[in-house]
Amino acid sequence: MSNKTTNPSEITGRVLNIQRYCTHDGPGIRTTVFLKGCSLRCKWCSNPESISPKPEIAYDAKKCAGAKECGACLKSPFPEGGFYVVEGADDDKVHINWDLAVDCDEATVSLCPTEALFMYGKKMTVEEVLDEVERDASFYRSSGGGMTLSGGEFSLQPEFSAGLLEGAHERGINTAVETAGNVPWASYEKVLPHVDTMLHDHKLTIPERHKKWTGVDNRRILENFKKAYETFPNIQFIARTPLMPGVNDDEEHIRAVLEFIRPHKNVIDYELLPYHRFGIGKYEFLGHVYELADFTTPPDETVQRLRAIIDEAFGRNQENAEDE
Ligand code: SF4
Repeated sequence: MSNKTTNPSEITGRVLNIQRYCTHDGPGIRTTVFLKGCSLRCKWCSNPESISPKPEIAYDAKKCAGAKECGACLKSPFPEGGFYVVEGADDDKVHINWDLAVDCDEATVSLCPTEALFMYGKKMTVEEVLDEVERDASFYRSSGGGMTLSGGEFSLQPEFSAGLLEGAHERGINTAVETAGNVPWASYEKVLPHVDTMLHDHKLTIPERHKKWTGVDNRRILENFKKAYETFPNIQFIARTPLMPGVNDDEEHIRAVLEFIRPHKNVIDYELLPYHRFGIGKYEFLGHVYELADFTTPPDETVQRLRAIIDEAFGRNQENAEDE
């Protein structure tokens, strides 16, 4: 029964992006709604623009017309010294003092004629998001897809997420979530009653190593997952590991995750997501440094060997599993 007390046009949240035709974020063709804010700091994060809970300014220097040609931002009411040019440099493109940039908003960005300045994230209502998601309802019906909430960590906005998930169900749309699990249980309790599929990360096994690579240990995460498996037997759970070379691409981690999930029959699969470097450019747009510049994708043979262990644990024939 619904406990809904607020009008969907009144509940607002901070949305990073709405991506249509996604095929890796749950069953079928899906629309993935990325929300702002994350409670982990994974060194390999490919969505650094999702970490801050607030909308934030970004800058693509390649698009800047330069101070002589344009210079609009230099004359803006931005805090003094926020934008500047470097005397004696080869070009007159602007630079940003990122410490002063935190309070920038749409008004600052709108001054830029070339979109070199832009915002990551905006406020939206539940109704606005669902209206956009519903545009592809026919694809969801034909493919068994639906809406996926991702992030960041979707459940850090529990009221907004619950409104989206419940509203999707009311419109006949299947729901999935991608989560790292580092939230108070009360937040999960609010959102999980409206979830059909939960894709959840097991990043590292040992608490101290988890903390080293993600900023927090995994004790609360594992407690939450176990409680979720037991409290919500009708959710389909899919475990995932973002596979980082030399960090967690070893049999020990894979077998430890299998040991954790296999007693729970509603955990229907365990997927490996090999590391990629697609998000690196976004670090530059935000004035951040990407720490793992030397990392490469894990070798194919490592991924295949680890997938074979998972297939065996799930009783799948390896040849058939590769055909799927
Ligand atoms: S307003 Fe945009 S294009 Fe103009 S100088 Fe500033 S960043 Fe460059």
